[in-house]
Amino acid sequence: MPTVNEKESDYLVSCPYCWEQIWMEFFPEDGSHQETVVDCEVCCNPILYTVSFAGGGGQARVRVDKAQ
Ligand SMILES: [Zn+2]
Repeated sequence: MPTVNEKESDYLVSCPYCWEQIWMEFFPEDGSHQETVVDCEVCCNPILYTVSFAGGGGQARVRVDKAQ
């Protein structure tokens, strides 16, 4: 899933259920590999975010999947 970067910590992702675009914030301070489930603000389905920061900082790679 490609992401667009506006601020360094903001990532534009598409909900895997309704395809709405959502801004999410991820910080390298929270770990170089993060998995978190957040409900979509539009359709309320649980989205699994898999976030990896290469080298512990900078731009993350963000993957979205259905958490169910
Ligand atoms: Zn949604």
